[in-house]
Amino acid sequence: MKLSNILKKQVTLSFEIFPPKRTGSIQTIYDTLDALHELSPDFISVTYGAGGSGNSHATCEIASAIKNQYKIESLAHLPCAGLTKEDVLTQLENFKQNGIENILALRGDILDPKQPKGDFTHASDMIVFIKEHGDFDITAACYPEGHTESKNLVEDIQNLKKKVDSGADQLITQLFFHNDYFYRFQERCSIAGIHVPIEAGIMPVVNKKQIERMASLCHVDLPPKFIAMMNRYENNPEAMRDAGIAYAIDQIVDLVVQGADGIHLYTMNNPYIAAKIYEAVHRLISK
Ligand code: FAD
Repeated sequence: MKLSNILKKQVTLSFEIFPPKRTGSIQTIYDTLDALHELSPDFISVTYGAGGSGNSHATCEIASAIKNQYKIESLAHLPCAGLTKEDVLTQLENFKQNGIENILALRGDILDPKQPKGDFTHASDMIVFIKEHGDFDITAACYPEGHTESKNLVEDIQNLKKKVDSGADQLITQLFFHNDYFYRFQERCSIAGIHVPIEAGIMPVVNKKQIERMASLCHVDLPPKFIAMMNRYENNPEAMRDAGIAYAIDQIVDLVVQGADGIHLYTMNNPYIAAKIYEAVHRLISK
């Protein structure tokens, strides 16, 4: 089923997973999925390393298993950085053959300026191309605190409007730790005429260094309450995990009460954390 049809009917709770490293066993992801699918999320998305990094070849296989074996809707990420039109057509054909209807169309990060540019400059260029070449439902990325390359929030929202006008059916946000950024972003979207559903991306913290690195790369603000929590538990992994779960639940309850269209949980392939959060919030999210 197309995600836009699910989001029309209900507030969603969905998960993100990533393929195991090329050197790792693909079986580990099936162990993760065995646990996650029991939670009946509305859909599960599978990341894809831009420019062929990571284990991007596994994205289609895993998205297909989610849909066809586990009977949960899947969302396959597809970053266009470095891809030609031919490459994208091959991916679309693979998705079609596997019954995958939903694509998270991305540009991807340009880590190596020497890498071939490919045929698409922005995610919006690939969205137009996909819409011309298949009957796919398109999700796109958005940034409550602005994308790192945007000069300011006005430019950021103008570019997001172009992306939605190109055919994005819904949006998923980058992680954020202060809900006010999300609410202000919703207001900017509304003023700019962006009216598609927006799922809020929530990442439970398990590791202080990892979150600090990610926050600095993505230009995400860490509120004082959050920093105090990480400082207090940084040397106690179990306490940090529990505090991270509690913080994420607090964020989610507030988001649902304030009318967010959905919650997308960055599970980091950790079913324990996903299950704890699911248990705490699933009754609050109307089905
Ligand atoms: P774009 O929409 O192309 O935007 C990139 C920059 O260009 C922005 O600053 C934007 O304002 C600007 N821009 C956009 N359109 C125009 C235009 N028409 N004219 C001028 N400027 C424009 N990366 C991966 O490699 N693999 C993944 O699986 C992955 N999953 C993600 C999932 C989510 C939910 C999110 C939020 C991000 C994900 N990313 C992933 C990261 C993403 O690829 C990077 O953030 C990347 O830098 C931007 O991708 P985008 O699709 O938002 O790009």
